Amino acid sequence: TVANHLPTTELQAIDAAHHMHPFTTGKEINENGARIITSAKGVWLKDSEGQEILDGMAGLWCVNIGYGRPEIADVAARQMRELPFYNTFFQTSHVPALMLAKKLAELAPGDLNHVFFANGGSDANDTNIRMVRTYWAEKDQPERDVIISRWNGYHGSTIGGASLGGMKGMHAQGGLPIPGIEFIDEPNWWAEGGDQTPEEFGLARARQLEEKIKEIGPEKVAAFIGEPIQGAGGVIIPPATYWPEIQRICDKYGILLIADEVICGFGRTGNWFGSQTMGIKPDIMTVAKGLSAGYVPIGASIVSDEIAKVIGDTEFNHGYTYSGHPVACAVALENLRILEEENVLEHVRNVAGPHLKKRWEELAEHPLVGEARVEGLMGSIALTPDKATRAPFAADAGTVGYICRERCFANNIVMRHVGDRMVIAPPLVITCEEIDIFVDRARKSLDECLEKIRADGIFKAA
Ligand code: PLP
Repeated sequence: TVANHLPTTELQAIDAAHHMHPFTTGKEINENGARIITSAKGVWLKDSEGQEILDGMAGLWCVNIGYGRPEIADVAARQMRELPFYNTFFQTSHVPALMLAKKLAELAPGDLNHVFFANGGSDANDTNIRMVRTYWAEKDQPERDVIISRWNGYHGSTIGGASLGGMKGMHAQGGLPIPGIEFIDEPNWWAEGGDQTPEEFGLARARQLEEKIKEIGPEKVAAFIGEPIQGAGGVIIPPATYWPEIQRICDKYGILLIADEVICGFGRTGNWFGSQTMGIKPDIMTVAKGLSAGYVPIGASIVSDEIAKVIGDTEFNHGYTYSGHPVACAVALENLRILEEENVLEHVRNVAGPHLKKRWEELAEHPLVGEARVEGLMGSIALTPDKATRAPFAADAGTVGYICRERCFANNIVMRHVGDRMVIAPPLVITCEEIDIFVDRARKSLDECLEKIRADGIFKAA
């Protein structure tokens, strides 16, 4: 494109002057200049200076089949020529939307056979809020409108999504959460488990759900929502005891279970859905990101026969212009074909996942690293000044994580930080050789981070 021919400094100046970045301080951009990504292939990004960067985050947890797949571009172009848009309101439909709905019903576990399309994960979760409340109202229990979620869970940035999420920094802006959302603590054993074993801690955290239900009154609780593995909260892999206990409690009180699969869905944990990895049977799944591998925006709520039947008995006054956008649906179908025909899930389960686990866990020996864990192809490391006590740093949370992220970027790998946890979720097609390059560079970045925080006098516990 024309813009690609402008010098980097000029592109950065335009960006700083006009482009508002999500979750970013404007000042940061003005001072440092954004890194301008111009193209990408497989797991490699290229920037405007021609540097190649290994993307350990699959874009933003989404480009699971890797960048630059021509089949996807061809399908999108064909669909744009044939039918670029038509809506799915009232009594019209089109082939990409109905075929994608059928395919998702086949892939989803249990009786999750019905799909309501959205543009991404946030607005699919908005759909879920209205859907579960409408469901209970239609069942003559309108007082059942409370949704229980978890502190440090992430469910999006819309008013509904950010209300469901337990990010306090997000609640602080814009008057959130909306009424009727309650929170319990997250199952983060490393940071909060104290002297308990992970198994004891997992049970204790799950049982907070029962306590919360009793506190609110079971007759007022509509649903519980959680990510099978919290992603944006720092890739918190729950203890094995956690999800079965949550399932038991939801079943006992007849509460709907919503699994937010926006990150875990479509192979991230080696199964089609994180719910399968965690052994739960949700009533609703939120999907987005890996559904189209990030090539175009699309999200959805996949719901049970029972919910679809009850909702179907009324007019559900809800929908987005782009619900079931034909180009997005066609791209998603092609993406799912690639995942299946190229055996990408088997690659995660048997090849890349085990290799990443082995290499990643080696990082636990590093003086700066507390735990280093992986499930499938999502992982995290906790940075700490004291492994034995699992202490946080004396410096503000995120200070060390930010330095580590900067070192990674300087060493041409993308690894994000969430506070002082580093997270990865590479494209699922990453090879073992690429994993080795990634982990070697991550170790070098950790070394450099340690050197810097020692020099700055901040390698110390709170
Ligand atoms: N839910 C989860 C679990 C997510 O990780 C995200 C995004 O990171 C969302 C919802 C929001 O999705 P989107 O950014 O597509 O609106």
